[in-house]
Amino acid sequence: TNKFKDGLSKTRSAFVEKVEELILRRKKIDEDFYEELEEILIGADVGVNTVLELIEQLRTEVRKRKIENPADLQPILSEKLVGMMQGGEDNRLHMNENGLTVYLFVGVNGVGKTTAIGKLAHRFKSQGKKVLLAAGDTFRAAAIDQLEVWGQRAGVDVIKQSEGSDPAAVMFDAIQAAKMRGVDVLLCDTAGRLQNKTNLMDELNKIYRVIRREIPDAPHETLLVIDATTGQNALNQAKLFGEKTGVTGLVLSKLDSTAKGGIVIAIRNELNIPVKLVGLGEKIDDLEDFDSNQFVHALFA
Ligand code: GDP
Repeated sequence: TNKFKDGLSKTRSAFVEKVEELILRRKKIDEDFYEELEEILIGADVGVNTVLELIEQLRTEVRKRKIENPADLQPILSEKLVGMMQGGEDNRLHMNENGLTVYLFVGVNGVGKTTAIGKLAHRFKSQGKKVLLAAGDTFRAAAIDQLEVWGQRAGVDVIKQSEGSDPAAVMFDAIQAAKMRGVDVLLCDTAGRLQNKTNLMDELNKIYRVIRREIPDAPHETLLVIDATTGQNALNQAKLFGEKTGVTGLVLSKLDSTAKGGIVIAIRNELNIPVKLVGLGEKIDDLEDFDSNQFVHALFA
């Protein structure tokens, strides 16, 4: 889609255009060529491990197919990129077919969690579903207000309590309200303070327990939101959260405002967690399902 293409324009000029320039400029595929390619890929935040693996795959392919002209390398590069991003896992958001679907959003402050919840609320509502939000970040009054702003934008209600209250109690309330009102999708915000990581994990565990007591197979997704503009940091956050919580999918926000979109490739290659959604802007409909094929094609289109 065009949205994907537009959203990736910064990454395209920093990464793909440089690769294309290199391919045009170089007359043969030698060590210098590989070295320059390596530099470009690392600069686009593809990640050292992933880059080394990719270069190795290219070398093998070049030898096998007896490729001499750098220009013939481009289709192979995109083919390998797609290959590296495919883990055979499921990119689709899981829904509860027989009732209330619950999604839990986790991630540190400022990554775009509230925005992602607002966008997704809008999407489900446009599909005719009844949506409810839970203000589980009770740590900051601003977080509750912010979620309400997005609730209004999307035209959906927010279940909240006062600042400092128990987030697990908010979840309990929200589930009761959702059941009573015949809600289809409940989207739950959680706190994202970086300090006191252990407390944060305890808090999340308590939230899980409360949710599971009410709906045994919930949450149907635990979505970790990470900020693409932070590059390798986003990857590290995903590793950290992925180990400590049952993250089932990633939401990669702000892909439109970074030239480091290569981070998607590193995340897909180095982590066992699928990227399910990407944020491509600040507006309510700037959220897209992630598809690695589409991603690579939008890059090289
Ligand atoms: P939270 O603290 O994790 O809830 O973060 P917010 O949802 O409040 O977002 C933080 C900032 O990032 C806000 O200024 C958002 O407008 C911005 N933002 C969030 N998602 C995107 C995105 O996909 N693209 C762009 N360009 N900005 C985004």
